Order: sequence, then structure tokens, then C-alpha cells
Amino acid sequence: MRTYESFADAALAGELLSREEAKAVLTAPDADLLALMHAAFKVRRASFGTTVQLYYLKNAKSGLCPEDCRYCSQGRDSSAAIDKYPMLSADRLLAGAADAAAAGAKTYCIVASGRGPSNREVQHVADVAARIKQEHGLHICACLGLLKEGQAEVLKAGGVDRINHNLNTGRGNHDEVVTTHTYDDRLATLKKARQAGLELCSGLIVGMGESSDDLIDAALELRELRAESVPINFLHAIDGTMFEKRRELDPRYCLKVLALYRFLLPTAELRVAGGREVNLRSLQPLALYAANSLFVSDYLTTAGQPASEDHRMIEDLGFEVVLSGVESDVGRSDGAAEPAEANVSRSDQETGAVGVRESAGAAVAAACGA
Ligand code: SF4
Repeated sequence: MRTYESFADAALAGELLSREEAKAVLTAPDADLLALMHAAFKVRRASFGTTVQLYYLKNAKSGLCPEDCRYCSQGRDSSAAIDKYPMLSADRLLAGAADAAAAGAKTYCIVASGRGPSNREVQHVADVAARIKQEHGLHICACLGLLKEGQAEVLKAGGVDRINHNLNTGRGNHDEVVTTHTYDDRLATLKKARQAGLELCSGLIVGMGESSDDLIDAALELRELRAESVPINFLHAIDGTMFEKRRELDPRYCLKVLALYRFLLPTAELRVAGGREVNLRSLQPLALYAANSLFVSDYLTTAGQPASEDHRMIEDLGFEVVLSGVESDVGRSDGAAEPAEANVSRSDQETGAVGVRESAGAAVAAACGA
């Protein structure tokens, strides 16, 4: 078998690893972990240097969802105790954008529960996006579920830059995770977004019973879609969800998944998303040798670690936060501004998706939106 270093060189040359090589990354001996992350870093550094992009989530609409995504606390089969509310007002979404800017985020992610948005909800998000652009200049990602014909165009016209719609898992595992919509429904929404000229953010949730082949298949699908942004969530099993008892991950395996995704998606923005705190635990900093972005502050319905700790971690690594192409010192440990964290609940148990406590609900950061 080739060395990990040669995997990096192949990735940089635009070549795919063989399926056998990809599986070897996922099953690499723990003693090889640093060699593997070193190789992944070589690929990461070629496109992103030592920069880290920060994303900030806003749970714009929580709960009340008819879908049966088994990881999610907002779905019809979940008994998790979460806040439930309809789409937030423009003022609440604008306040979230101000928090995002204060936290040093480059991208503001507006996430709504539900199978898909009504035309009225789409117009509301489009109108708010235009105001956020004007007032804060943030990059805007909308995660609203399955899109109907014409909705992506309305979002684009309002100033939304990107649609998040996760594959969540490989095609072969999809029906074990949700039955109320199909893998092809998800692909159709991503294709509509692309046709409207929107960037694509699409990733997965690791730890839902998927095989190595499922993980590889999902990465190859995202490569085919040319997804600009790929969030990798690690399942944080929430009490009351159908997956509440699943505990499949250890921190070293999470790092191997990130390394594999860096080799297979060498130029994609790879984000460590929901569940990083509970699954990577003390190994969180190593994730940034493969990934180049993070969610900062909270997720959809669970709290992440304080943004100041993320900024310190980035600083301790010798990496830099980028804010719209400009290095940001917001929230740094040298006494710079502390990101806004008021209203953040740190009590609920979800996946990485915390939220600036408007909400409480999803199991995974930006995993919603069908
Ligand atoms: S992930 Fe989204 S579509 Fe699925 S149950 Fe949760 S809120 Fe509904």
C-alpha cells in the first residue's frame, strides 16, 4: 500500500484514492494517527494555509417537523424536550447576524426545521438576507429543507450565497436514518440550488450505523457535486431521539474520517461541525490539521464550547481566523472582544447543534433542512 504521504500527493494532483486505500485510512492503526494527520495537513495547507473560517448558526425555526430523521430532536418521532417556535422575525434574525459578526464569524447560517419552506418563508429569508448583507456584510447560508421549483432563485436574488442541505450519510444507509424523504429528494434540492447559481454546503453525520463504503460513497457524491463546503457532524445522541442509544465513535476514528475527507475533497472547505466537543473531546485541535473551519458558539439546539475557547485553540495551534478575507482578532485570548453568548443554553444534550438559544432541537449542526 502507498504511504499516507503519497495519498496526500495523489490528492494534490487531483487523483482519487482507490476504495481499498480509502478504507485503509478509516482503519489506520492508532499508532499512525499523527502520520495520517500530517499527510492530511499537507493537502489542507495547499488550499487554506493555516487559516480557519468560523460559522455561526441561527436556529430560525425549531421543532414541529413532520419528518422522521432518527438523529433529530425536532422530528415527529422525537420526545426530546426542545423549544418549538415558528420562523423568527426579521429583527431576531438580524440580531443573530450581529452576534455572528461579534463572534468573528465569516458566515451566518440560517437554519429552519421542517420538510421544506413555504414560499412565504423563503421570501422572508430572502428579505432578511438582503438586510444582513447591507448591515454586516456576512456570507449567508440558508438551510431550509427540500426546496420546491423557483425557491432557490428567490433566495439567490435576496443575497443568500449558499444552500446547506446535507447528504447526511451514504445512499446505502439513508433509509436506516429517515423514511419520509429519499436520498434522491436530497440530491434534487442540491441540484436546484446549483442551477440557481448558489454555492453548495453539504455534508454528513458520522456515527449513524454507516459502513466504510457509505462514508466513501458520500464523499464521492460530494466530489461529483463540487460542494464548496462540507460539514462533518459526529452524532451526539440526544435523549428522546430514535438514535439516543447510539455510541459508535471514538476521537481517533473521527480524525481518520476527517483525514479521508480531506484526501477525497482536497479543495473543499471542510468543517468540523456538530458533535465535535463530545466526540473529539481532548483531540479537537488535531481536527484542524484536516479541516479548515468550525462552527463557533452554539449549534441548533445544543451548546458548543464558548467561542473564546475556540479562538484560543486556534491561536494555540498557530493558526489564524479569517473574516471575509481579513484576519480577525475578535474573541482572542489577548483580551479582545468576547463573542456574544448571552441566551445560550448549555444544558441540553444534542449533537453539536447548539443554538443561540432561540431554540433547542436538532441533533446536529445544520443537519436539518430535511
Ligand atoms: S433534520 Fe430537519 S427535516 Fe429532519 S426531522 Fe429534523 S427538523 Fe425535520
